[in-house]
Amino acid sequence: MSISIEIDGVSVAAEEGGVLVDVAADAGVYIPTLCYLRGKPCLGTCRVCSVKVDGAVVAACTVRVRGGMTVEVDEPETTDMRKALVELLFAEGNHNCPSCEKSGRCTLQAVGYEVDMLVSRFPYRFPQRERDHASERIWLERDRCIFCQRCVDFVRDETTGDKIFSISHRGSESRIEVDTERADAMPIEQVRYAVEICPVGAILEKRVGYDVPIGRRKYEVHSVRDRALDQTNGSGAP
Ligand code: SF4
Repeated sequence: MSISIEIDGVSVAAEEGGVLVDVAADAGVYIPTLCYLRGKPCLGTCRVCSVKVDGAVVAACTVRVRGGMTVEVDEPETTDMRKALVELLFAEGNHNCPSCEKSGRCTLQAVGYEVDMLVSRFPYRFPQRERDHASERIWLERDRCIFCQRCVDFVRDETTGDKIFSISHRGSESRIEVDTERADAMPIEQVRYAVEICPVGAILEKRVGYDVPIGRRKYEVHSVRDRALDQTNGSGAP
């Protein structure tokens, strides 16, 4: 059923039940995301898409639109909240962009530019999380992980449906695990999909580096905003 909602004071036509992030993008309004992938179930882990709906702060990827809804995206409180959440992710991990292979195609880095982040307002934690290089195909740099859980939910053994990535430990000790045997059996296309949807440089393909030169990488050619508003690029990741 076709309905009408209001985004930043502008009336927008949408199908009832659509995901607010998608409805906004289709109307030309960019809401940053790090865990949500268009067409995939909502994970709701990063909260970077926080907006106000009818005056309450919510993660836009968790909201299904209904008629008469009033949405505020370009609004000072939530704009700063989104920026703070991105800054927090930078402070909680080791994101040394100039030395990271994912620079220029890292969604966290690109979203950092979009929210006008210069430096984190939070103290940097410089975590020491053990790397996992055991797989023949996957290089796991845990201290860059933002725990979006995309890899856990969307990268599975193509025959059995079993998870290849999982989360172990709890709280601040939480970390991503990769099942070495299953990772070694991944088709190369699936390895590349895992690298593509990881929004940071935590999952890398072994023996591949700088295959796309700096300066020609996806967010250096088109901003994450432009890519999110043009969802014709395949993986669902902007
Ligand atoms: S390894 Fe990448 S995809 Fe997996 S949870 Fe961490 S940041 Fe997300």
